[in-house]
Amino acid sequence: MTLALYGNQPVRKNFLSYGQQWITEEDIQAVVETLQSPYLTQGPKIDQFEQAIAEYVGAKYAVAFINGTAALHGACYAAGIGKGDEVITTPMTFAASANCVLYMGGKPVFADIDNKTYNIDPKSIEKLITSKTKAVIAVDYTGQPANLDEIKLLCKKHNLVFIEDGAHSIGASYKGEKVGSQADMTMFSFHPVKHITTGEGGIITTNSEEYAKKLRLFRSHGITKETLTGDEGPWYYEMIDLGMNYRMTDIQASLGCSQLKRLDSFVKRRREISNQYTNAFNNIPNVVVPFQDPDGESSWHLYMLRLRLENLSVDRKKVFEALRAENIGVHVHYIPVHTLSYYQSLGYMKGICPNAETYYEEALTLPLFPKMTEDDVQSVITAVEKVIDYFSKKG
Ligand SMILES: *Cc1c(COP(=O)(O)O)cnc(C)c1O
Repeated sequence: MTLALYGNQPVRKNFLSYGQQWITEEDIQAVVETLQSPYLTQGPKIDQFEQAIAEYVGAKYAVAFINGTAALHGACYAAGIGKGDEVITTPMTFAASANCVLYMGGKPVFADIDNKTYNIDPKSIEKLITSKTKAVIAVDYTGQPANLDEIKLLCKKHNLVFIEDGAHSIGASYKGEKVGSQADMTMFSFHPVKHITTGEGGIITTNSEEYAKKLRLFRSHGITKETLTGDEGPWYYEMIDLGMNYRMTDIQASLGCSQLKRLDSFVKRRREISNQYTNAFNNIPNVVVPFQDPDGESSWHLYMLRLRLENLSVDRKKVFEALRAENIGVHVHYIPVHTLSYYQSLGYMKGICPNAETYYEEALTLPLFPKMTEDDVQSVITAVEKVIDYFSKKG
């Protein structure tokens, strides 16, 4: 059995992407109904979606945004991040988790990751806290909750706002409770590769009425009708701060409401596939399966395989290319944020987060989405076994 990379038959005929949405007739019908209704935006579907998400995660409030990045921007606004403020976050994430700090004129500070969970390491956070630190943005990387209790304690001790980037973790649990109410604010994304989709979309869940108010203000130009002082008339509104137009549409929200009904089944299927992967890859040498902290139950946005490069004759790139040749849509999540060109131009140095940087060299994302068939799952397992065996140093 030799590799497709060298001209042989690939394990599968068609390309299997790493993530993909699952839209049903019912979803389509829900969107059509909104399109035929009086409101395409600023109608009843937003409230309905916000309430359903708040209820699902067990938070008092939910405020929807056009996408997860805008939601993170809103969270940084609500947290009062401004010029010169430092916000500690992880480099093992999508750029948006740190960009939101830059939008507010603040400075992202990168703490290293834990070598087992690949989540932000609370000990590394603590070392970086200064008098300028205002907030921590932790990411539930791959869907596995970060060390929420320890981070919460640190934030309390140092009077910091705790923002959780839960783009990967809707449906995950921490110490028996759904993720979404542990931090001061939690963001979820509804991009099509995430657990449920609204096309583009994001939301912040919070138990704080004050944050919820600020988030609503920010997503709608900084305009409110709540603080009226004069008696100008019913048309009057106040703009009390500089906000954005970051509102989600009713079209998006109606898709979200419909998708949310299937979230639990999506998470269940993701867990099943991940289990199959782990059972298979536990039996082959030279790969490390994802460690799961017993405090959390992952919602499995991503399945990451770590390569034991010291026992392989090639680097990650070659393994990646070999799997792609087999028509397995592997990916890499993520290039450490502080090493991206823009962050390099801001003066961030390579080497500041050695765990994240080493992990990056060895990480490989396998296809994982609920619509995968049994054959899809088996093809991934077969291809990984074949490629890893081929490149393993023998004897
Ligand atoms: C997807 C994602 C975001 C951004 O969400 P969008 O809805 O795409 O703007 C932020 N952080 C992480 C970790 C993500 O995976």
